[in-house]
Amino acid sequence: MPTDWQVYKNLVNLQSGYDALLSGNPTPHEKYNAYKALLDERWQADLLPVLSDLYWYPFRNGTNGIPEKKRALKGWLRKQYEDPGAVALLLFLLLRYQVDAYNLGGQIGLDFLGIDGRFELRNAGILATLDEHARGLVTQGTTHSLIDTTIDELSEAIPEARSGNKSLLIALAAFIGRRSAERTVTIERTERPYQVGSAQDEVYQRNGLRYKMYDVAGIGCKKICAPWHGQIFEVGRYRNLIPQHPNCDCVWTPARYNGQTIGVPPVTINAPFLPPWQPPASAWTGA
Ligand SMILES: [Zn+2]
Repeated sequence: MPTDWQVYKNLVNLQSGYDALLSGNPTPHEKYNAYKALLDERWQADLLPVLSDLYWYPFRNGTNGIPEKKRALKGWLRKQYEDPGAVALLLFLLLRYQVDAYNLGGQIGLDFLGIDGRFELRNAGILATLDEHARGLVTQGTTHSLIDTTIDELSEAIPEARSGNKSLLIALAAFIGRRSAERTVTIERTERPYQVGSAQDEVYQRNGLRYKMYDVAGIGCKKICAPWHGQIFEVGRYRNLIPQHPNCDCVWTPARYNGQTIGVPPVTINAPFLPPWQPPASAWTGA
């Protein structure tokens, strides 16, 4: 579950975003805060029941025949999740929301550059990359496999549930309810900033920007992100620096010329090597 600090931060971001939208003249940062809050809410509402079903999947035919021994139990769970039907809905959601998050990041990238236009991802290569990433998340044995985590957790939770004095299903229900709620937030709050950050970088690169600034975009995360605020990076590099942790709200802000003041809180760029950015004759908006 999010900590008090995270809840507070989200409320502050949300409130300032909505206030700015209502005032009719939001900054790109405020616009991002409001739209991302909406996306977060929708994504989490859709993900929660799907994640809960994912945990319940191995028990769809009851609890008879579930192996007792830990090794056998894990093997049995792995086999359950090899069924494409077990992960189909999760994959569908991840595919959809990654494109939504990418479009949000692309739009914010254009807004930050001051390019008029609506971002819409239609680029086949990038769509294929998102697709591959989503498939990796629902495949066993990959770096960020959500299924491996589910299997690991269940192979601990099942013996624990058996050892208590409640029925197996009741004990599992408590575990699954708690973990699917926690993981819904973590997954969404990791995947959304990841896609936003990479979309921003892509928009900058394809629109001829050379340098970007790490921007905590508001009150940020004191411990992890604050030391990075204001650092300048070459566009196209360090893409995966954001998010640094689930719930990371940091963004890449374009560094358009030396001496420009950008970011929240504001930073004046001191980088004499920085070539001033020239807007492209025709902007890249996702094609
Ligand atoms: Zn951050």
